[in-house]
Amino acid sequence: MPTQVKSNYVGRAIDGTASVTTAYRAVIALECVECTGAIGPGHLFSRRSQPVARRMIGALTLAPVCLACRPLRMQDR
Ligand SMILES: [Zn+2]
Repeated sequence: MPTQVKSNYVGRAIDGTASVTTAYRAVIALECVECTGAIGPGHLFSRRSQPVARRMIGALTLAPVCLACRPLRMQDR
C-alpha cells in the first residue's frame, strides 16, 4: 500500500504548556483536529495522539493540530 507523504519532520518544539513536542511542516493541506481549520502546505503544525476507535479498534493515529490551537516555539536554533 503506497504511503503519501503528508508532512516533513522539522524538529523539536515547545508548546504553550511548556511540553516538548515535535514540529512538522505540511506538504499537502491538512485539517486541524481541534478547530477543523486548514493547515496549508508549508505551514508548521504539531501532532497529538488520538484514538480512532470508529475505524480501527485500539488503534492510535497522530492527528494534526494547527498553530492557532497549539502554539509552538522551536527549541533548536
Ligand atoms: Zn486548530
